[in-house]
Amino acid sequence: MKKYSFKKGWIPPDGLAFSGDTDFPREPVLELFTPKQIVLPMLQHRGTPAIPTVLPGEKVKIGQIVGKPSSAMCAPVHASVSGSVTGIETILLPHGSECRAIIIQNDLKREYHPSIRKRANPDRLTREELWKLLDYSGVVGMGRNGIPTAAKCRKAERIGVETLLVNACQSEPFLSSDIHLVREQTDRVIRGAFVLAGLCRAKRVIFCILDKWEAELDALRRNFKKQREVFPDRDLGLRVFRSRYPQGYEKLLIKAIYDTELPVGSSGEETVGAVVFNASTCAAVWNMVDRNQPLTSRVISISNDSAGGHNILVPIGTKVSEILERVPGAASSRRIVMGGPITGIALENRDTPVIKTTTGIVMVRYFDPPKTACIHCGACVEACPVGLLPYICDRLIQMNQEEALQHEHIGSCISCGACSYVCPAGIDLSARIGSAAVRLRKEQENE
Ligand code: SF4
Ligand code: SF4
Repeated sequence: MKKYSFKKGWIPPDGLAFSGDTDFPREPVLELFTPKQIVLPMLQHRGTPAIPTVLPGEKVKIGQIVGKPSSAMCAPVHASVSGSVTGIETILLPHGSECRAIIIQNDLKREYHPSIRKRANPDRLTREELWKLLDYSGVVGMGRNGIPTAAKCRKAERIGVETLLVNACQSEPFLSSDIHLVREQTDRVIRGAFVLAGLCRAKRVIFCILDKWEAELDALRRNFKKQREVFPDRDLGLRVFRSRYPQGYEKLLIKAIYDTELPVGSSGEETVGAVVFNASTCAAVWNMVDRNQPLTSRVISISNDSAGGHNILVPIGTKVSEILERVPGAASSRRIVMGGPITGIALENRDTPVIKTTTGIVMVRYFDPPKTACIHCGACVEACPVGLLPYICDRLIQMNQEEALQHEHIGSCISCGACSYVCPAGIDLSARIGSAAVRLRKEQENE
């Protein structure tokens, strides 16, 4: 079996094995968590914030729209519990921007909006009906990018893509939420992918998954057989990748499959005619088509750095502090990281809510290694998947050498965090290089 990969990157001695060799990714998902209160930010995606459509005192049901889109780059927001709106507040999101958020007190009745019901013939919907459902669904890229899925689909259709790639390469240690869905809800993921492919007018769907996920590979192969019997015209393929971090990044998927470098600022749609959607995003789209259920909850991985964890299904807007109250050992965690251990953001405020793009929560109990000056070991150079020299870039940033940074192609940084993770001197290269890269890209765009 051919295995796809890219050069460099990082194969952690124990990190990837953690989520591959323990039972955690294969445990049944813990049932829907019941929070007392939820905080629903109006900005959970790239683009513009949604506009609140409810007022304090109003009663809401699960799936009811509470934030309407403000632009084409905006996704609506739906209530994820039933209860009463108790306020609309301005909150600070983990990456530093502010937005309004709707606070809902859970009445614990779990009442669904009457529009949510199983559809009799989901495969017979017209394109127009499917576009309407996608626009209403509130689905955004649930991996990391958070682009509203309807906007991404329209761009892919406009450009004219041939292929839809389903990204199930969850390569960051401790995260297995996508993998869980690929194995437990294989049919939903595949059918959601075909809905998106139909809207984008892509001719084929290719699943991308790491070689270590053997049970999930088997589940996909079994389901492919079934799909081909029912839908013989569908072009469905599989690409298996070596387990290496950060294989799941779009740039590295494209590089591995098409042997093409994505130029800075361009996407797979323009360069190779392929659009990439995350596996959880595909499942969420099928929930809308099959049950008229917008995006109100998601699976996240909760783990700690002593190799324990669970995947749990949580309503969007659940506060991290409420989840941690029920996780043994959370109180002794020194740091709580939202996302994965490499790319996640350390939370200052544990009342931060889980949003549509939250893949996991990591509890870090051990102390960080002592920080020293660079010892020129070259580990960051070995790890950088896009071929940068991180320690040189870091030095140039400190010296404010913008022209030299451009020569080093700093704009190619994908903020994967591999350089920081391997650095024995504890230097946070990724944060510095990532933000310098964003700043320089913006300056170039404005020139
Ligand atoms: S964060 Fe940027 S510089 Fe560091 S390894 Fe990843 S791509 Fe390279
Ligand atoms: S990994 Fe850290 S110590 Fe080693 S060269 Fe890079 S910055 Fe320096």
